[in-house]
Amino acid sequence: MGTQITINNLVKIFGSGSKATAAVDDLTLTIEPGELFFLLGPSGCGKTTLLRMIAGFIDPTSGQIAFDGKDVTHNAPNKRNTGMVFQSYALWPHMTVAGNVAFGLNVRKIPNPEKDQRVLEALAAVQMEAYAHRKPNELSGGQQQRVALARALVIKPDVLLLDEPLSNLDAKLRNDLRHQIRNVCKASGITTVYVTHDQKEALSMADRVALLRSGKIMQVGTPRELYRSPKTRFVAEFLGETNLIEAQPVDGTDHASTYQVQAGQFLGPRREGTNAERNLLSIRPEAIRLRKGGEPNTLPGKLLDTTYLGETAQHLVEIKGCPPIKIAEMNPFGSTSAVHPEPGDAVQVEFLAGDIVPVADV
Ligand code: ADP
Ligand code: MG
Repeated sequence: MGTQITINNLVKIFGSGSKATAAVDDLTLTIEPGELFFLLGPSGCGKTTLLRMIAGFIDPTSGQIAFDGKDVTHNAPNKRNTGMVFQSYALWPHMTVAGNVAFGLNVRKIPNPEKDQRVLEALAAVQMEAYAHRKPNELSGGQQQRVALARALVIKPDVLLLDEPLSNLDAKLRNDLRHQIRNVCKASGITTVYVTHDQKEALSMADRVALLRSGKIMQVGTPRELYRSPKTRFVAEFLGETNLIEAQPVDGTDHASTYQVQAGQFLGPRREGTNAERNLLSIRPEAIRLRKGGEPNTLPGKLLDTTYLGETAQHLVEIKGCPPIKIAEMNPFGSTSAVHPEPGDAVQVEFLAGDIVPVADV
């Protein structure tokens, strides 16, 4: 069950001569059968272009795309059996929900009663059976997008492709639908490629994520791998918030270094394969704590500002030789809160050594 997608040295160049831009730039990737795979990256990085080449709407400049080892690079879209869901739901306004979902089955000349049965099943999968006879303009945005998903699923595609399907919805609805879409995709067993610029969507839904920049893959991994072990500054900054500190390794073992900044020294993991004089370290706000002092791995600093948000507080601390350091505190002023400094107070700042990640400066 599920189709493997292999992409080899795929290139798409738009325009020619001095105006030529590589929207997808020599990209190689394997998406496993049944995977819910995310293409994540800033606007213009080539996500839609890549998705449309997988669908067959855009002809690659060079390279190959194969489904289960079978070359489909230049096959027409209707020869690939892919289902597509767009940001704009693209439902037919004059047709009912059931009519919209049945559309792909009519094209394929699927007769009744199989057709009605499959429409019902697809609507049930997205919990929209009760709306079968409504018109799209009688539905909310979230409901319309669920119908669009049912319409893509009903043809039993080998590959399901979604391009920013939640971008038109408000924040609350986006959150609700994340779970639903993930559940529907995983239950179907269909290999799914999902495009988004929203890192929270990718982290919360994906089996694996490819983070793209300028048509190239910067890193591929599970959400946890990408968030916890970014290889580059770009990946660390794109997924969540982080502090990037330049520090000098002064001594160390195979695995750990003592790092020096102007304010003092702290321990962290060693960056493998480099003897650079300065290392760039990514330290997430939640991997830093305000302390009373005396704890290991602390540096002196000064509290600049605190934003109280109820369940968390965001502190900004000055540490000599570092950019302003962001700290996220859970349960601020609660029983786990060690100190309650005011802006201007001297503070001790602990870096959790195991959560420091040396990254390449790209
Ligand atoms: P994303 O979906 O990640 O926002 P796109 O794949 O839409 O990015 O676009 C990638 C790059 O290719 C952008 O620089 C965009 O301007 C360019 N591009 C996309 N489609 C075309 C086109 N039909 N003609 C020329 N340039 C295009
Ligand atoms: Mg796009």
